[in-house]
Amino acid sequence: MSLQTVLHLSRLRKNLRRKPSELEKMQIKKLRAIVRHAYRDIPFYHRKFKNARIDPDQIRSIEDLKKIPFTSRSEVQAASSREMVASNLDPCRLVKRRTSGSVGQPLTVFVDEGTARFEAALWLRAMFENGLRLRDKLVVIHDPASKFLENGKWLKNLGIIRRENISILEDAKNQLALLKKNEPEVIKSYPSALAIIANLCRARGCSIKPRLIFTGAELLDEATREFISSTFDAEVLDNYGCNEFSLLAWECGQHLGYHINSDSVVMEFINRGERAASGERGEIVCTGLVNQVMPLIRYRVGDVGISSDEQCSCGRILPLMEVLEGRADDFLVTLDGKLVSPLIFHPYPFENSEWIKQFKIVQEKRDKLIVQLVIKEDAGDVAKIITEARVRLIELFGTGMQVEFRTVKSIERDASGKLRKIVSHVSINDGLH
Ligand SMILES: [Zn+2]
Repeated sequence: MSLQTVLHLSRLRKNLRRKPSELEKMQIKKLRAIVRHAYRDIPFYHRKFKNARIDPDQIRSIEDLKKIPFTSRSEVQAASSREMVASNLDPCRLVKRRTSGSVGQPLTVFVDEGTARFEAALWLRAMFENGLRLRDKLVVIHDPASKFLENGKWLKNLGIIRRENISILEDAKNQLALLKKNEPEVIKSYPSALAIIANLCRARGCSIKPRLIFTGAELLDEATREFISSTFDAEVLDNYGCNEFSLLAWECGQHLGYHINSDSVVMEFINRGERAASGERGEIVCTGLVNQVMPLIRYRVGDVGISSDEQCSCGRILPLMEVLEGRADDFLVTLDGKLVSPLIFHPYPFENSEWIKQFKIVQEKRDKLIVQLVIKEDAGDVAKIITEARVRLIELFGTGMQVEFRTVKSIERDASGKLRKIVSHVSINDGLH
């Protein structure tokens, strides 16, 4: 946590008690600024606005935003970083975040330090509002590919929010041992990872007694929430976000839905090209109000949700939503029975290649993985990419694992119509031991 993050946090918490009209005014002001900036400084949006004959000064309200065409993930993926990043900034000097999300198409999002600090403050707001205390010990179990946040030295010395990170790649037994050692008051992780640890706890007896558990990055179903909450005897508070925008919405203690961070994003719910009415399901489309380095306007996140006109009984003015569908990838199992979270496969095992357009990993049998690859047309040494990926996968899954690579034109959707990246035909109970 930096001083700048603390200042952002204080302003963000004040926003929760503003009048709705004040918040809307602030949102529109930020929206107009980002739209003007995108037109002026981002070649991708300059072209998009020109093609759609949009003058950025025409965008004066949230309603006006409808005039701007959507931005899809594949459009951003096809564009070069020079087209997506503000023309006065050098992409080499920025913080690069690679993500592939549920559809397995790697995408690079650029942010600067200022944006990263604001995003950290968004997370802290949700956590403090839900009872995080300054002296708490926080253990975060997550993907080591996403940068592990460290507290500044001055905060460490003062013992403020002592944070420990545990890698999701770590074996669940080791994760449990590390949790026991750290005795956290607060745990933050993915529902699937916590469910596995909770399973182990139930089998072996559990001495971890966190006060709060924050989840995110995957859809949290009621059964998993109840399982985690009752195992650890702690309240579970879920968050909704994505790598492109960081935290988008969060639950409060009333559990009536998720409060949308409308001071950092304009979230729309689109049904058949039109805005869905309150209570109606719609595809989630977001316009980020914070990241000036690589703005994303009317970006189709790929999840489905429901907006709500209801006011939360907690009194916070941020509007409510529900998240319905999102990432639904499977866990894989290593030869020695460890579970491998689907979340690690971004961009692993292809971190050194920009040439992989899409990939899908299917665990056909306990000892066989099939990796389907869609490779860019101008790709260089594909054999080398495959050899490197094979070495990484065998390291992770064990030496007897057969890994077959297949180059395909496109990744097919499964029977339910979902484009899944990680699929297992092996029971994960093989890994729960
Ligand atoms: Zn609330």
